[in-house]
Amino acid sequence: MRAKSGQYDFSHEVKEAMAGCLACKACSTQCPVKIDVPLFRAKFLAFYYSRYLRPISDYVVANIELTLPLMAKQPRWFNFMLRQGWIQTLGHKVIGLTDFPQLYISSLQQQLAGHAALSLSLPQLESLPEETRSQFVFVVQDPFTTRVSHRHIKFQKWLKSNG
Ligand code: SF4
Repeated sequence: MRAKSGQYDFSHEVKEAMAGCLACKACSTQCPVKIDVPLFRAKFLAFYYSRYLRPISDYVVANIELTLPLMAKQPRWFNFMLRQGWIQTLGHKVIGLTDFPQLYISSLQQQLAGHAALSLSLPQLESLPEETRSQFVFVVQDPFTTRVSHRHIKFQKWLKSNG
């Protein structure tokens, strides 16, 4: 269903008022009557976008976990393209996104190649005694932190220096 153009719709103002909410849920834990702003905000936005088209940036961000691994197959080429002024201008004007992050040339797994931590499978980890497992630090990466976060270089250095 699409809203008729030119027709006044109060839901635009509601959406604008809710745009400042970060969905941090701080209010829902503090509220004495347990009003959950992020929950009703999510329900409102689902209703709103059943009537109006979503911005392109929503689709870009929603699919970033699918597209990043594909982009990471050619990181140098994508980094070169993402640095181009006309791509940044186009990205800002068309999808409303700026400052595209650069992709890592090699993943954390590639940088840690040969490290003992990579040779353990999940069943092997699960079979370890509780006491041994309690000394492990598990790092679960998502495609974004794997491909564009700068933190994993520091983590890789720390891991190598701490065995
Ligand atoms: S979830 Fe609540 S506290 Fe957090 S930004 Fe939204 S309204 Fe504010």
